[in-house]
Amino acid sequence: MQLLDGRVASAAIKDILKKQVAERKEKGLKTPHLAAILVGHNGASETYVASKVKNCAETGFQSTLIRMEDSVSEQLLLEQIKALNSNDDIDGILVQLPLPAHISEAKVIETIDPSKDVDGFHPVNVGKMVQGLETFISATPLGVMLLLEHYNIPTAGKHAVVIGRSNIVGRPMSILLSGQLAYGNCTVTVCHSKTPDLESFTQKADIIIAALGKPGFLKKGMIKDGCIVIDVGITRVEDKTKKSGFAIKGDVDFDNVAPKSSWISPVPGGVGLMTIGGLLKNTMEACVRRERRNP
Ligand code: NAD
Repeated sequence: MQLLDGRVASAAIKDILKKQVAERKEKGLKTPHLAAILVGHNGASETYVASKVKNCAETGFQSTLIRMEDSVSEQLLLEQIKALNSNDDIDGILVQLPLPAHISEAKVIETIDPSKDVDGFHPVNVGKMVQGLETFISATPLGVMLLLEHYNIPTAGKHAVVIGRSNIVGRPMSILLSGQLAYGNCTVTVCHSKTPDLESFTQKADIIIAALGKPGFLKKGMIKDGCIVIDVGITRVEDKTKKSGFAIKGDVDFDNVAPKSSWISPVPGGVGLMTIGGLLKNTMEACVRRERRNP
């Protein structure tokens, strides 16, 4: 078993970006600038946004955090996004999900200028991804692809099983892995909550991407020897031994599955960090593309 270590791979991405920021400064070019909007006080969202802001600072990016109360109206939030869309200093915009129930996530995502949509959620960017056009690939699936690339895991001709079909992880993941990409060209099966006899699919998989949000779901009996296992799941599970009162768990029972796998990503220290790497890469790309459009 070898570790697909998100700490190592994301540090490598950040090193490259740091060098690019320094080179840009020498040439008098602008520093990439990410704006993050956080609505309310959801604990997990607070942690994710704080980590994104911290990683921007570590990479030399500028970031602006805009906080809004749970009670904020949808209209006010959309106006804030429009203001960021027309602000020339902002390269990338992200709105941390989930949003309060009275706000339409679809409307919010569609209001973000696709050229600043560094989370890659806008339907225009998703459509371009499906067609293999230049776009922003959503940060988590991009992070998984960057992890495969960092460890140079051969994927062509392999059977990949993706567990989960959400718009932000499972579905884009399945499209990327089946695409004609350096770390694609897989035959992909998408499994979900209505898939009967899920084991019959996972037991045949060369690669499994677990993205269902059920801690410890994947066990060794569900995989074949030498399978490559990538764990996207992040769930807070009560743990009184921790100061925070919770532990972060993935969808894979790591200790049980690891000895049977050839490569496996841990949680924490795996895809979560790669997601931030993907977001930073997209933000740099947004900045460069804007310069190309407006030289
Ligand atoms: P989601 O709830 O939107 O989707 C879950 C998917 O899993 C659904 O498509 C559902 O059909 C499927 N599913 C649920 N139970 C199943 C079962 N028993 N068998 C087979 N399929 C089942 O979740 P999501 O937003 O895609 O996130 C999935 C997990 O990934 C969560 O734990 C989430 O926190 C995590 N996540 C991690 C990152 C990261 O940066 N690492 C980013 C996004 C999401």
